[in-house]
Amino acid sequence: MEPMTVRRTLRTLCALFLALAMTSSAMSPLEMRLDRHMKTWQKRLGLESWNLAVQVVRQSSLDKHTWGNAEWDPATRSGVISVLDPRDYNLKGRDLNLDMECTIVHELVHIQVSPLDAQDETTREEVVNKIMTALLNRPCPN
Ligand SMILES: [Zn+2]
Repeated sequence: MEPMTVRRTLRTLCALFLALAMTSSAMSPLEMRLDRHMKTWQKRLGLESWNLAVQVVRQSSLDKHTWGNAEWDPATRSGVISVLDPRDYNLKGRDLNLDMECTIVHELVHIQVSPLDAQDETTREEVVNKIMTALLNRPCPN
């Protein structure tokens, strides 16, 4: 092989590896959709200044009978919203997609009302669900 050819081959390989690396770190179509929902609802709830990420997790990472959770730090205005993996969901298709959006809204409302958080968890959940339902203007499958 001539030196020129070798160099070109190396460059091609580098480009290929870069493309592979980018593909593996890129979001899946589901994560991209959830991220779009998150951005939309962050804007609607006035939480644009928060640096929030959404991730899909298995049921084992969540409390029993929950479809998501949120962890956040008010000091840095950052957080992560976890949404139940479709493999562990009790719903499919359209209902699944609608419900995952409900989870994102529910968790964002938790962040929004956190300055007013009540001690009692049931009271907190009731307030959050009322606001979530009002925002979505439709019932949630779960
Ligand atoms: Zn909740």
